[in-house]
Amino acid sequence: MVVPVLNEERGLPPLIARLRPVLDSLDLDWEVIFIDDGSTDATLATLRAIHAQDRRLKAISLSRNFGKEIAIAAGLRYARGDAAVLMDADLQHPPELIRDFVEHWRAGFEIVYGRRLDRATDSFLHRWAARAFYVAFQKLSGTTLPEGAGDFRLLDRKAIDAMNGMSERVRFNKGLFAWMGFRSIGVPFNVPPRHGSGGSRWRLRQLLRFGLDGIASFTTIPLRVWSYLGLVISLFAFCYAVVFLLKTLLFGTDVPGFPTLVISVMFFAGVQLLSLGIIGEYLGRMYEEVKGRPLFLISEELGIEREAPRPNASDPGEPRSQ
Ligand code: UDP
Ligand code: MG
Repeated sequence: MVVPVLNEERGLPPLIARLRPVLDSLDLDWEVIFIDDGSTDATLATLRAIHAQDRRLKAISLSRNFGKEIAIAAGLRYARGDAAVLMDADLQHPPELIRDFVEHWRAGFEIVYGRRLDRATDSFLHRWAARAFYVAFQKLSGTTLPEGAGDFRLLDRKAIDAMNGMSERVRFNKGLFAWMGFRSIGVPFNVPPRHGSGGSRWRLRQLLRFGLDGIASFTTIPLRVWSYLGLVISLFAFCYAVVFLLKTLLFGTDVPGFPTLVISVMFFAGVQLLSLGIIGEYLGRMYEEVKGRPLFLISEELGIEREAPRPNASDPGEPRSQ
């Protein structure tokens, strides 16, 4: 199990109380790796206590808040099993579903994802924005994100290795999962309200950033569209020039057209700034990737026995020992 946690001190005990019986009933060896994503409350202390009481509940603590996507990437690098289940710590992902996940996995599916049936726990605006994003993502990238699929999922070792082999720093897991392919199946579930303190850990700004990252890492259409727009506008300007020339030759000249001038200058200045901004978005991402910084930094490990994996994905890393 790979469970990212950010300020979940109150959510952890009920999570474990429900999760452990499920895992014990599965008749296989298991470990839970909690990734403390730079929590500022007593989450790490709680994890220490939990680990002291059951050695199968392990943890790594990141040096600061890196965000859920990176926390998951970190957890997958540490996961040693033949399969890994990703899950939220706030009980919005019912642990009982893991039984079905494992059943499908044993039947030969390489990815089993939880498919949320409704987004009733999200606000109206959030639901609407999510819907719009999914449509835009599909149209632009050609990769279909399965309806309602999130991070609650089981990955076979093949998929874990594939995830670990992706070196990109800007990570949009949903897209990466869909892009990978593999034999996949969805298991429907209802999302209960959040357990634990506070609301969602996502801020609006983070969600916007996340959506933009998702689109930018799966398509370059926003970059290319400007050349087409530029072409159309140039053609239009050329025709207009011809019309204007003929008109002047035939009917002589007069001075009106000032508003047209101002409007078109402003419009095209805007278009140019926008296109520059989009180039900047991609350039910034390329800069991030080229810098080649490690994906995450670890400040503490609880119960991780083997040599730590290398957080820098561009390193080949050691082959996995069985
Ligand atoms: N989380 C994290 N780092 C972050 C934000 C969230 O590790 O920067 C964890 C959080 O503790 C939880 C999971 O990711 O276990 C999902 O977070 P949340 O419930 O806030 O998201 P939502 O349910 O709104 O998608
Ligand atoms: Mg949640």
